[in-house]
Amino acid sequence: MDDLLKIKGKNIVVMGVANERSIAWGVAKTLFAVGANVIFTYRKERSLAKLEKLLSAAGFEAKLIVQCDVNEDESIHEAFGKIGAEVGTIHGVVHSLAFAHAEDLKNDFVETTRSGYAFAQDTSSYSLIATAREARPYMTDGGSIVTMSYLGAQRVLDGYNVMGVAKAALEASVKYLAFDLGKENIRVNAISAGAIRTLSAKGIASFNTILTQIEENAPLRRNVTQEEVADMTLVTLSNLSRGVTGEIIYVDAGYNIMG
Ligand code: NAP
Repeated sequence: MDDLLKIKGKNIVVMGVANERSIAWGVAKTLFAVGANVIFTYRKERSLAKLEKLLSAAGFEAKLIVQCDVNEDESIHEAFGKIGAEVGTIHGVVHSLAFAHAEDLKNDFVETTRSGYAFAQDTSSYSLIATAREARPYMTDGGSIVTMSYLGAQRVLDGYNVMGVAKAALEASVKYLAFDLGKENIRVNAISAGAIRTLSAKGIASFNTILTQIEENAPLRRNVTQEEVADMTLVTLSNLSRGVTGEIIYVDAGYNIMG
């Protein structure tokens, strides 16, 4: 299997585990299963405590765990500096994080404040650019950067509002980054994941309706799982996808193709 994946022993940074439901935790489990070295970044101390519990319950050993708040340039710089000093070469980064103020998801989109818009963009979109810039000096063997997007980047989904616009910017950033970093053999892609019940999803008031609509209308007539998103993330990090960059890859039971 590793002849195909070429990921065993590779150093992969996973950002965004808040609890066992996090997409990033699904990705981490899959990476451990194939023998990658997994380095975690977390923001809140509460997330660190959850992560440590999850790791010990699963019997996994992280290569390194460092704090990183993507709203702060200095924090991202320090985090990747520590990672680089510890592992030398970074082969992959999984950027699985986003945030917007609750009121900007509850109010009509037209009511979005300047500061709420800037905050959602900063946390959910600009953070990918800053992360790629800080990871790049350590990605000396090339590698793969993967971020998580959502269909709300392309279509109006009731209640996704400012986050939809942030995801649209994220998807465009993936393409510009793919162009910039391609000459260093660093690939940049997004996984557009179907709806999954996580802590972040709680902020979307219409989330239950979205899940039902997908179940009724998606070609596969069901929602996707954390494991399915993780498996495609593994493919996107691995040698199997070596010819793929700048893509938005849907893992959504086919829902996005429907009219
Ligand atoms: P989650 O478990 O709540 O994870 C979100 C993560 O973002 C948390 O670990 C949180 O860390 C982190 N985060 C927020 N602000 C941060 C900051 N300033 N600095 C560093 N980390 C920060 O939710 P999730 O659903 O797995 O979300 C992961 C990604 O998948 C997001 O980009 C989300 O938009 C995307 N996505 C989710 C779905 C879905 O239906 N769930 C579908 C498509 C795409 P702290 O808790 O420590 O702050």
